[in-house]
This record gives sequence, structure tokens and C-alpha cells, in this order.
Amino acid sequence: IPLVTVRHVSKRFANGTLAVRDVDLELGAGQFISLLGPSGCGKSTLLRMIAGLGAPTSGTISWPGEQGADQGTAGHGGRDLGFVFQDPTLMPWANALANVMLPLKLKGVPRAEAEARAAEMLALVGLKGFEKSYPRELSGGMKMRVSIARALVMRPKILLMDEPFAALDEITRHRLNDDLLELWWRERFTAVFVTHSVFESVYLSQRIVVMAARPGRVMADLSVEADYPRDE
Ligand code: ADP
Ligand code: ADP
Repeated sequence: IPLVTVRHVSKRFANGTLAVRDVDLELGAGQFISLLGPSGCGKSTLLRMIAGLGAPTSGTISWPGEQGADQGTAGHGGRDLGFVFQDPTLMPWANALANVMLPLKLKGVPRAEAEARAAEMLALVGLKGFEKSYPRELSGGMKMRVSIARALVMRPKILLMDEPFAALDEITRHRLNDDLLELWWRERFTAVFVTHSVFESVYLSQRIVVMAARPGRVMADLSVEADYPRDE
């Protein structure tokens, strides 16, 4: 069964903008899926609705595997997901470890266990040794790594990423693409990656969902036969 089912979903904002129009989509467990399209085509709006951040105007988004998590409108509605925004949005007064520990603390995980799990996650994203660094001491790429670690620390089934690397320079972006792919290969969460970069979508994903410039429709759903792992 699919992890997420999107049925006839449309979204019209209060100002009249039709951002997403009649989208049908099934997100399969374990896939790396890109949502590709030019700026303003509704990718972000769709991703946020999948996360439960904003309800569709019409249509339904359901999580067939999860009881009681269907069609939630507020917050994540108990859905088993992590979300990475374009801006890493770290707490400036807390070091990298404390930033990654936050979701564990909110869940009431005991401090020692939370620390160990956060440290392990930081190591997985390539930041071993930077646990005590504050966001201002980290580069843009490193802050994004912390943000990914924080999104994954609860080990969600699905990681939703909204143009996570768009603000980074090309070289850093390339490194992060490689490392994200490796992480996904190792950890096997379902990944949904919003991008306007054809290169990124082809490089990263097994499946590319193409959205049109306007207004918010899915124009193609492509399967990319990639040979994972890339290098052995
Ligand atoms: P993308 O992520 O593909 O760049 P968005 O989903 O951010 O596209 O936006 C789709 C359309 O909806 C755009 O025309 C955008 O201006 C509009 N839009 C996004 N958020 C809002 C909002 N809160 N209120 C009104 N219009 C919005
Ligand atoms: P990436 O984002 O892929 O880690 P960056 O270009 O941001 O690449 O950084 C390259 C490397 O330089 C980092 O992995 C890190 O080892 C080091 N580095 C960058 N910024 C700092 C910093 N503020 N303090 C210590 N080391 C840093």
C-alpha cells in the first residue's frame, strides 16, 4: 500500500490564487521522489498539504497505513514525517546537538538517550565533531545538515524537503546531494524532494513528478531507472 495517497487535491488561497489543481498522486514507501517544476507552480503548497500544513480546498490526502492520521489539518496531525525547509531555521541560541535534540525533548525522550540519538544523527549527516557548534559558527551547508539531522532524528517514515539546497552555492549543493543520496540509501526513508532543478531531480530520484508552470497541475510522472548504489 502507498504511504500517502493524494486524490483530486486542489488548493485555492484566500486571495483567489489557484495554486494546486486536481492533483492525483500516490507516494510509495521507500522511494526517492522529486517534485519538479518552475517557481510558483504549486510544489511547495502541495508538499505542505502532504505535511498537514494547510488543508486542501477540495480533495483528500490520506495516509493509508496510519490510523487516525488521515486528513489532519493542524500541524503534522500525528503523521510520521520530517520536514526540511529551504531556510534551515535553527535555534540560534542552541548548539547543533541541542537543535537536533529538540524533537526528542518534545516527545519526552530522556536526556541521555536524546543526546546519544542526536549525536548519532549528526554523525550520519557528516557533522561528527560539530555537536557543540552554534549555528552562527556553521556554514550554510552545515546548517542544512543540522536541519536534516533534526528532521530525521525521530526516524520518520517520510522526509519532506522543500528546495532544501536552493540557497546554497553549487559546490556545497553538489556535496549535499551526494550525501543525502547516501543517507537515503543507508536509512531507507521515503524522500519527497521539491526542486526547480532538472539536474537535481534526475541526479537524486527514482521518480520525478513534473508540475506545470500554472496552475499547479501534474504534467508527467516519470520513473527513473537508477543503478543504486552508484559506486561499489
Ligand atoms: P512553488 O513551490 O512551486 O514555487 P508555491 O506552492 O509556493 O509554488 O506557490 C504556488 C502559487 O501560489 C504561486 O502563485 C504563489 O504566489 C501562490 N501562493 C503561495 N502561497 C500563497 C499564500 N499563502 N497566499 C496566496 N498565494 C500563495
Ligand atoms: P558542506 O556544506 O558540504 O559541509 P562547506 O563548504 O559548508 O561544505 O564546508 C566545507 C568544510 O569546511 C566542512 O565540512 C567543514 O569541515 C569545514 N568548515 C566550514 N565552515 C566551518 C566552520 N565555521 N568551522 C569549522 N569548519 C568549517
